[in-house]
Order: sequence, then structure tokens, then C-alpha cells
Amino acid sequence: MEITNIHNLSEYEKKLIEVARAARKNAVPPVSNYQVGAAVLTASGKIFPGANIEDAGLNSTVHAEVSAISAANAAGSKNIRTLAVCGGDSGSEVFLMPCLHCWQFICNFTEVIGNEIKIIGVHSEGDGCSIGSTNDGSPDFLGWRAIGADLDRWRK
Ligand SMILES: [Zn+2]
Repeated sequence: MEITNIHNLSEYEKKLIEVARAARKNAVPPVSNYQVGAAVLTASGKIFPGANIEDAGLNSTVHAEVSAISAANAAGSKNIRTLAVCGGDSGSEVFLMPCLHCWQFICNFTEVIGNEIKIIGVHSEGDGCSIGSTNDGSPDFLGWRAIGADLDRWRK
């Protein structure tokens, strides 16, 4: 994983982040109230958005990353090269990255398409970002700090 600035990314990747941030606004998380947007970029330059949708029991929640990959696949655009995911407070020092459920989904999908997928994690606004890859041996995944959880409350 690498922490960098959006300005160091390609124009395609900057557009990908824009689309992920716009998709975040369409998220439907009535339980957590934590909106996540994602977007995938294919080898041919097509971009597909995704957003999280929760069910009341949280057991059938669709994560933004899965939503974006599914949208690309359904449109016949499997050849995904990069995925951007966005959410969280721009004041946080920890960037949102896929949860382990999504890492498994994304990594399994790379086995279908035969190439790695670059992962870009960004806040809902701001210029910082985290860069990872499905080839990372130990991926940076969604933790409590990224969503701003106050764990002291639960430690007592
Ligand atoms: Zn997830």
C-alpha cells in the first residue's frame, strides 16, 4: 500500500475518483448511515459506478465495490484494471479501502479476468489517496479507524 496524492494519478484515474464520489451520493445505508461509492475502470477506458445498499438486517448488504464490478460485468465489460472506492471523513488520516469481503470478491474476479486490479482508496473529498493492488500479499483493508468508530466505548 502507498499513500499519495490524487494529482499524481492519471487523468483516467482522476475521472474514476470523480465517478466514485458521485456514486457515493446514491448510496442507501439506512442502518449505518455510512455512504460508500466505487467505480471501476476497464482496459478500454469505460467507467462503471457502484454504491452500497443496505438491508435492515445487514446480511444482504451490497457493497459499493461489488456493485461497480457487477455493473461492468453486466454490461459485458469484464476487463477491469482499476477500482476506486470512496467514503469517510476527509479529516481522517486513514483512507477507506475495501473490506475483506470485497477483497475476496475482487481477488476472485481477477482470477476470472486474468490480471491484477489496482485499488485506489479516497475520502469523500480531498486530495490524498491510498493505492493498493490485488497482488499485495497483505492487503490494506477496512478497519474501525477508517470509519471513525469509537472503540473506547466497547472496551469497557
Ligand atoms: Zn466491502
